[in-house]
Amino acid sequence: MTRTTPPRPVDIAEHFPELRRYSATATRLHPRPGGPSTADSSIGGPLLWPSDEPWPVCDDGDDHYIFQLQTPATVRRTREIYAAAQARADASGTRYELTDEELAELPDIDFSEPHDLVKQPIPLIPVAQLYRRDVPDFAGPQGTDLLQVLWCPLDHPKEGHNPRVRLYWRRAADVTRPLETAPEPPVVSDAYLPEPCVVHPERVREYQYGGLLPEQLDARIVAWEKAGEAGDEDETGRSYHYDLSLAPGWKVGGYANWSLTDPYPMDCTECGTAMTLLFTADSSEWHGTGGSWRPVEEPAQALSGPTEVVIGRGYALYVFRCPVSFEHPPSTAMQ
Ligand SMILES: [Zn+2]
Ligand SMILES: [Zn+2]
Repeated sequence: MTRTTPPRPVDIAEHFPELRRYSATATRLHPRPGGPSTADSSIGGPLLWPSDEPWPVCDDGDDHYIFQLQTPATVRRTREIYAAAQARADASGTRYELTDEELAELPDIDFSEPHDLVKQPIPLIPVAQLYRRDVPDFAGPQGTDLLQVLWCPLDHPKEGHNPRVRLYWRRAADVTRPLETAPEPPVVSDAYLPEPCVVHPERVREYQYGGLLPEQLDARIVAWEKAGEAGDEDETGRSYHYDLSLAPGWKVGGYANWSLTDPYPMDCTECGTAMTLLFTADSSEWHGTGGSWRPVEEPAQALSGPTEVVIGRGYALYVFRCPVSFEHPPSTAMQ
């Protein structure tokens, strides 16, 4: 099934033609739980990985910030239990309730595996695998057709308490002997273990975050929004920030939403060049139940967090790349 973003309530570029200069396309990935293979683009799915290439690990050990650690198996079982209870409630129209057996199986609320487990090298986990053919806004070195995003599923204080992201580009045809089973970390922070999802890429148009537009233009847009509030009832959907500029959810390309901290420069640590947004991992796919970004195929009560990934308190993790060279290291920002 495809996923289709509803038309924007207002074509903002008609009101402010100069916005076209501050516009870019993005590919919304629309991840939904499924059973992707290594031949598919996916979130949290298996990677097409050469068996003779070492699987990347994180050696940060004691430098991780450790709160609660769980084995990937426990995280998956916990999600299964909640999903089963939800399915029963949906099917019978009764209240959501866990059975005594299910309650007994769930880990205690403050449970953690021993913290010492992070002293060993932690295998990174697959976050995204994106084939160029599937993603109109794919960016990568010439000759590559596959981007793989991995992260260490623990908090890194030196990187804003975020998972540490590594990017790999390759040519799928070069992987003649794929790895059969990827190593798994002994423990994870449960919010950083994505559910295996298939993707439904869709290209949308975005406009730069308000705080990064020329001041005058931003001020005129704000005035236009306010005029709408005071005006007639039909003038809804005038929020540049929520409805007209930036798509929420997992995406490739486009712009970052800087509403948590206000914008700060993202410059390449190698060469100092201003970086561009490559990839976004988001805690939710649309805002609230009435959000204008919910695909038309989704019912109002559909869950907006299909990947189960949660960044901070429901924020997004933006991964930037250097426009000068794909070999320069990526940077991340949580917003
Ligand atoms: Zn780590
Ligand atoms: Zn650079």
